[in-house]
Amino acid sequence: MNIGILALQGDVEKHGHVLSDLGLEYIFVRYPDELNEVNGLIIPGGESTTLTKLMNKSHFHKPIKKFAEKNPILGTCAGMIMMSKNVNHPLVDPLGIIDVDVDRNAYGRQVHSFVDKLSVRLNGDSKTIAATFIRAPKITKIGKNVEILAEFNNEPCAVKQGQHIALSFHPELNNITLFHKAVFCNKGSINKQESSHAA
Ligand code: GLN
Repeated sequence: MNIGILALQGDVEKHGHVLSDLGLEYIFVRYPDELNEVNGLIIPGGESTTLTKLMNKSHFHKPIKKFAEKNPILGTCAGMIMMSKNVNHPLVDPLGIIDVDVDRNAYGRQVHSFVDKLSVRLNGDSKTIAATFIRAPKITKIGKNVEILAEFNNEPCAVKQGQHIALSFHPELNNITLFHKAVFCNKGSINKQESSHAA
């Protein structure tokens, strides 16, 4: 597998470290043509209004939607916002890859960022992890084909549809590898590989 990390803006490098930990190769994707060189994509955190602008400028929307028909995508925070169907902000143009609606910044401002424990259910296993939320989006509506992998305060914050996963939080900041592994390695158990940084 060669994974692309969408590198228009935001928190791109730490995702590379997680992929390296899993023994996966990656490139930074800055132009739509580069999607032809990869068979999986990460849309990282950042700022969804800026991401929208930069994606529009480089004409990324159609190519990413097409890419998602055959290849897995992992979105974290702003990446989840971009993967959603509807967003509560007129300047965000989401891709509609996962059937959820989201509210941006629903967990408060940067100073209200927090780390908390989450229980994740994935491929029949469960695991407690530390999750970092930074101006995180909240899922307000969820389609029937979307599986909930984790909840925070009884609200979904990690979801899976088909081969794609979207997360409100930042697993790459706590060296959590299980989501990257589930999306890009397609191997069952999450209990055998979690890093020492997991809670
Ligand atoms: N609040 C940001 C947005 O609206 C997302 C923050 C993040 O990615 N950490 O895009």
